[in-house]
Amino acid sequence: MPHHFRRWPKASLHLHLEGSVAPDTLREIDPSLSEEEIASRYRYPDFLGFLKAYVWVCKQMRKPAHYAIAARRLFETLQDQHVSYAEITLSAGVILWKGEDFAAVYDAVQQEAAKARLDVRWIIDIVRQFPLEDARQVAELAAQRVRDGVVAIGIGGDEARGPASRFADLYKWARDRGLRLHAHAGETMGPESIWEALEIGAERIGHGIGAVGDPALLEYLRSKRIPLEICLTSNVRTGCVPSLDKHPVRAIYDAGVPLVFDTDDPALFECSLDGEFAIAEQRFGFTEPELQGIARNGFRFAFDPSISAWAKSMDPFAAPE
Ligand SMILES: [Zn+2]
Repeated sequence: MPHHFRRWPKASLHLHLEGSVAPDTLREIDPSLSEEEIASRYRYPDFLGFLKAYVWVCKQMRKPAHYAIAARRLFETLQDQHVSYAEITLSAGVILWKGEDFAAVYDAVQQEAAKARLDVRWIIDIVRQFPLEDARQVAELAAQRVRDGVVAIGIGGDEARGPASRFADLYKWARDRGLRLHAHAGETMGPESIWEALEIGAERIGHGIGAVGDPALLEYLRSKRIPLEICLTSNVRTGCVPSLDKHPVRAIYDAGVPLVFDTDDPALFECSLDGEFAIAEQRFGFTEPELQGIARNGFRFAFDPSISAWAKSMDPFAAPE
């Protein structure tokens, strides 16, 4: 069956710059790294092992120029997949933890974004298990760039050690400054973690697969039109679901909850956006109209209001060639 979705215009809403750094790009950043070392670092047994691999990649990016290379290569990959709009998560919490100058890193990736043949916005990410003071600093850096490419703040990292409720005041502060609110939740934990994220105002949920056991939560997400960003391969590779067959995506979709598909950390999970659509079609029986709706959700649920407003009037996709 031809994969029509490969030619559709797509948006990418859940994608971490640091998790997109392919082995070849990492060798471009640091030619002294061997292929074997990178391959061994990109292998991990579980979610905490994955977080360690992610931090290792972050540590290899020691200068703004390294982030610029990562951004350039990511934009090329997205263009190849007909992604015309992307909200890319940048781990500001990790950049500060490394003792680097966030402003210089941000300027470097924004310069690359200006040259890219797609529209790029940034979600600035807080490491949820770090001290609250670090989170405040990240939120301030994000707020300073609201008119310069940043659309949202988010929380990511270890849900178990950093409950969303810690960030209630900070999220209110950020919203008052024009930032949209994102949260990873229900990835490694259950529905209570998603409820907490919603209580502090999260407008989109990264993963959210833990919602499946809570009919009231599914109904809330459906009626309030709060989308879950579903990353099928990611959830398998981190062990958040025991196998692809056990992934609850179909049950969540059939409950009427809006979804988008994405790759999360495509280099660390060896996946692509087109590949995620192919898995949805082949393994979960999503039909072409369903996949079209999900692709269009990427624009509808964009945090940039000019994109989401435009998406409402989007024509149905042209008939496949
Ligand atoms: Zn993520």
